[in-house]
Amino acid sequence: MQTENLIRQLQKNIPVLWTNPHFHDVDSTDSVTAELSGLRLEAIARWQWLESFIKERFPELQSTAGILDAPLIELPDQYQPLGAHPETGRYLIQADHQFPIAGSVKARGGFYEVLLFAESLARQHGLLKDLSPSTALGSDEARALFSQYRIGVGSTGNLGMAIGLMSAALGFQAEVHMSVEAKEWKKQRLRQHGVKVVEHSGDYAKAVEAGRQQAELDEKAYFVDDERSKALFVGYSTAATCVQQKLAMQNIEVNAEHPLLVYIPCGVGGAPGGIAFGLRQLFAPHVHIFFVEPCASPCVLANLASSALANEDPARDEVSVYDWGLNNQTIADGLAVPTASGFVCSVMQQRLSGVMTASDEEMLDRLRQLYKQTGIKIEPSAAAALLGPERLLNTTEGQTYLQRQHINLSKATHILWTTGGSLVPEEIFSSWLA
Ligand SMILES: *Cc1c(COP(=O)(O)O)cnc(C)c1O
Repeated sequence: MQTENLIRQLQKNIPVLWTNPHFHDVDSTDSVTAELSGLRLEAIARWQWLESFIKERFPELQSTAGILDAPLIELPDQYQPLGAHPETGRYLIQADHQFPIAGSVKARGGFYEVLLFAESLARQHGLLKDLSPSTALGSDEARALFSQYRIGVGSTGNLGMAIGLMSAALGFQAEVHMSVEAKEWKKQRLRQHGVKVVEHSGDYAKAVEAGRQQAELDEKAYFVDDERSKALFVGYSTAATCVQQKLAMQNIEVNAEHPLLVYIPCGVGGAPGGIAFGLRQLFAPHVHIFFVEPCASPCVLANLASSALANEDPARDEVSVYDWGLNNQTIADGLAVPTASGFVCSVMQQRLSGVMTASDEEMLDRLRQLYKQTGIKIEPSAAAALLGPERLLNTTEGQTYLQRQHINLSKATHILWTTGGSLVPEEIFSSWLA
């Protein structure tokens, strides 16, 4: 689809599927890939090393046998995406809405970055020695050290929750910078856990900038940068290994005959980008990844489509949805981001199959349908994933993509990544149903 057409449709709130002209079957092996790939393997090893500490520190994890992951489950028969039938493959959901402790995908990256920082501080201060992580990071000495440091983050909500809760649990001072769109219940929950919430007028990008600037003035402050952080990205990327293990346990193959199609809701790009990077490393060329963004906030789409058009590197991150005449107003608060991460867009340029958009009406409608038919509770941002298969199956762009890639759907596996929602209070959830 021509970019001008695309913009015109989005301005009218008409959902689209954009397939990526730069998509490559095989991933490049440039220096950025090599670096991220090394960091991803390091992160997998780090999670293993930290396992005993995490289990001990979070009694909540007893219900998940100490595992910091969420289940990959069959999409219940009662709910079927529009246009989906058995000949179009098997439908699973990666239930990150149930992610332990923080209730969203953000825990994958957020917990990792906080733990990485804690480990590096403990190392610098000679607290690690040859001790087990439980002894070293859980000691009174470590807690006293951490309490001198402030961890800050700018967030529309869920990232703040993940960073805030993990930082506070380790003994850090935690500070979450939030924009006006952020929901009151999230602010309250953070405050209850001893996290300081700083409210900013203006949008998400401004909250991030304010937080970043404040942290630069203080040498005992550490700022988790949603737009630029490699640690977050790498933390998210480890989700791919979890998926690989769960697929293997369910005897689900991924190969030329059994392609994997993945639909992930996207805000600034970090979470879906990290996950996509990991999945491409493990399964390319047999995995096809689509991001789903709100019609009013398609920031990754704006970046990738504009750079494709201008033949430029997507690393520049100044393209915003406002430039496209869109207003960034959406019920999907986790995805209400006007400008994508340039870093993520440049990593995704050849790895992403495409971007789909979803309207607020559709997200609410699918959220209600899923709940009524299966009892599963997700938030509107997560409901964006449910639109993925129908956008692929029911559009000319989608059909063209499937043909061009020689994808036979009958043996395909679709993963709909439901990114958040289990912590949403009852009264808020009811308001979405009404
Ligand atoms: C943050 C978030 C996303 C997208 O993650 P980004 O890193 O912002 O792209 C998707 N779903 C939910 C529920 C989120 O909170």
